[in-house]
Amino acid sequence: ILLVTGASGQLGRSVINHLLDTFEVPAARIIATTRTPANLADLSARGVTVRGADFDDRASLAQAFAGADRALIISTNELAIQGRREQQLAAVAAARQAGVGHLLYTSLPNTEPGSAVLFAPDHYDTEQAIKASGIPYTIFRNGWYDENLFMAMPQILASGQWYTSAADGAISYGARDDLAAAIAAGLASDNTESTTYTLTGPKAYTSAEVAVLVTEVTGKPIQVVQLSDEALTEGMKAAGLPEPIARLLVSFDAATRAGDLGMVTDSVETLSGRKSVPLKRFLEANKAALA
Ligand code: NDP
Repeated sequence: ILLVTGASGQLGRSVINHLLDTFEVPAARIIATTRTPANLADLSARGVTVRGADFDDRASLAQAFAGADRALIISTNELAIQGRREQQLAAVAAARQAGVGHLLYTSLPNTEPGSAVLFAPDHYDTEQAIKASGIPYTIFRNGWYDENLFMAMPQILASGQWYTSAADGAISYGARDDLAAAIAAGLASDNTESTTYTLTGPKAYTSAEVAVLVTEVTGKPIQVVQLSDEALTEGMKAAGLPEPIARLLVSFDAATRAGDLGMVTDSVETLSGRKSVPLKRFLEANKAALA
């Protein structure tokens, strides 16, 4: 029995779709947990077992992992300092109590102490808790999604300027669905060895290189403007972003500058057995989300 938490999130849904459709896992072998079971009525109708589970609610966690041989804990999107760490440690503890045989988790590349990413310690502490649990594990250190570009790009294209402190640092962008296929493959496999994979796209791109691709796809020019972390933070605050969000976003640029998000591996293709989508093709297919 394979279990996926956070099954109504974008990655969770995609993992379950790959389990069912790409790897032909029978629906009866899949448990999907979520805070909002009503969102998964379609999966329920296909025969997937849907359970309510909220990492903030210990009572809901007691039964959440019951019967699962392999369980994928999808990291939550709670970014409040400490919030995510506590949620994920509660999930690991519940999986251990339920006797889960293999634990899988979505982490962050180079999440060791020293990472500039402000929430890296949440991932690192969760990895450490998984290792300390004694349960064999597969950790997927997910690189930056291609989809992250949808957040900033409309504003960058509107102004024609991309303010960054990433300097020459590169990001090995990968399509979320490609990462999901690799994760589903790891979940569906019978591999019981403890392994850590860094899941990335096929190539790393600097901001300047991404700007060239986006201009090729949209026809709109982008000037990349390099700033210091402090100047970028101040600029974001002046543009109306709350300071904690500005600091978080700038921490991504600092990590990029340090090279922590640029590692390229072939694990996505090796695990999933399919070709990854190159960034330019992804941008072409999603042109409407850029502008
Ligand atoms: P979504 O925002 O679509 O999904 C958020 C996920 O968090 C859902 O799976 C949701 O589960 C889960 N979640 C939130 N709060 C709780 C809670 N209290 N208890 C249990 N689960 C919770 O994100 P994506 O699907 O795009 O990405 C998956 C994860 O990857 C994110 O949550 C985040 O940790 C990380 N991420 C990585 C990025 C990258 O570039 N590598 C970019 C963005 C996020 P549900 O709603 O079903 O309960």
